Amino acid sequence: MSRSLTRIRSCGRHLRTGLIAVLAMTLAVAPSASGQESTADFDLQAARSIAMTPSWLSSDHPTTDAIPEITIDVAIANRPEAPETVDLSGTMSLGRLPELALLTGRLPLRLYPNAIQYGAADMAVTSIQVDGREVAPVTDDDPTTIWIPVQSDTSTVSLTFTATVSPRSTASFGIFSAAPDGSSMLLGHWYPMPVPVLDDEWVLYPISEIGDPTLAAFADYEVTIDAPAALTVVATGTRTPSGPSDPLTFVSGPVREVVLSLGEGWVPLSQDVGETQITVWQSAATAAGAPAVLDAAAAALAIYNDAFGAYPYRELDIIPYELHGASGMEFPGLIVLSPSYWTTPLTPFAESVVAHEVAHQWWYGLVANDQYVAAFLDEGISQMVGTQFYFEERYGTERGDAMFDSQAGSLFRTSGGLNAIRSPGLPIEDYATMEEYFISVYAGGGMAFHELEDTIGREAFANGLRSLVTDAAFSLVTEDQFRIAWEDSCGCDLTTFWATWFGSS
Ligand SMILES: [Zn+2]
Repeated sequence: MSRSLTRIRSCGRHLRTGLIAVLAMTLAVAPSASGQESTADFDLQAARSIAMTPSWLSSDHPTTDAIPEITIDVAIANRPEAPETVDLSGTMSLGRLPELALLTGRLPLRLYPNAIQYGAADMAVTSIQVDGREVAPVTDDDPTTIWIPVQSDTSTVSLTFTATVSPRSTASFGIFSAAPDGSSMLLGHWYPMPVPVLDDEWVLYPISEIGDPTLAAFADYEVTIDAPAALTVVATGTRTPSGPSDPLTFVSGPVREVVLSLGEGWVPLSQDVGETQITVWQSAATAAGAPAVLDAAAAALAIYNDAFGAYPYRELDIIPYELHGASGMEFPGLIVLSPSYWTTPLTPFAESVVAHEVAHQWWYGLVANDQYVAAFLDEGISQMVGTQFYFEERYGTERGDAMFDSQAGSLFRTSGGLNAIRSPGLPIEDYATMEEYFISVYAGGGMAFHELEDTIGREAFANGLRSLVTDAAFSLVTEDQFRIAWEDSCGCDLTTFWATWFGSS
């Protein structure tokens, strides 16, 4: 078994250049002060009982006491005269604020659509209340960040916001965009997003033009959506039990963000894997390939459940949506696969995209690396397990080797190998182009994990990852934690290996 791992960074997006470029959407963990009261209108335990699997609810798992609770009510509407322009307006309430906010007297939120990477899209916070008292945000020259003044005993921050999805917003892979005729839309980063904390500091980077733009904090969400009646809404989390005339409300459990997707005529096709229901949403154009997509996703989920520990959420959705410069994209509990890949049978590449994005549900979704400074972690691991690991487990060693080589190994070699490429371990801003980023982070990073598995063996490789899920899910996990997890599983010292593959030189 060859272990060539390709690292694909955050989301499983694959560049359409023929290379697989996966971008991961990284979210960050925002530790909050534990013991704070919940927001009045959020029944956390009831929400989790809907969104999380019975096994997760009844078992020991890493603490999720210190993450915010967020309630959002949002109205979404296409402009009748210009369906590709979509207006959002919402109210949002945050409880269990991060301890750092209470200690420092200010809470940052990020308005990603204001970044140039999102084209002409925009977002505004139109009013803020702190425990019922009106306040003004503190802003600086950065239109993507606001700071809300809070006090040490602040319980709840409430705000109103608006956002606009601009026409032809192909920026940022189209993750905040609508189809030209308004018949579908993908809304990532559509609300003011919490910021993760690491080492008592806010993790606030410039919004990158390469790789994943976001780094958001874990939170529990309850989201109620008022959407055009003609569109089916698919979102992170699980819809709360309700009648046909009740509001459309989703609860998420602890996740790094909530994404919304809407499509006209989307029809569900579902399969249970363990305690999770996987649903692919077929459009008229993708119905023929839906069973094959579902089959691949179900196989991947079963393989990773066994290898890394059970996926803790009750639902995983896959939607068809045209991405720009990527073929797939992961969000918590929801995967985007470009329509052209929905074929029967799937092409090997399309199957690897599905396997890659499902892997991200662990590597990015549950165990949250910082994709800005260490993109190689979630992308490299997802690329490796989405090629070699998945295909080998499902079809045998020869197939696994071939898939890894086709998507990472051969590119690594033709790029000149480790001495010729830039280190996979650089901060994202250090890569000059998307191509350079892809070669280093996906091909180089993937190759590194291939070598790591080759060195310590598949069992130790998988056990190291499993231990991270067991011990560190729902938190921002550092590069050192990954290395130490593998050192513990192999009983070896990986200092030299790590410096060789991920050093700064
Ligand atoms: Zn990826």
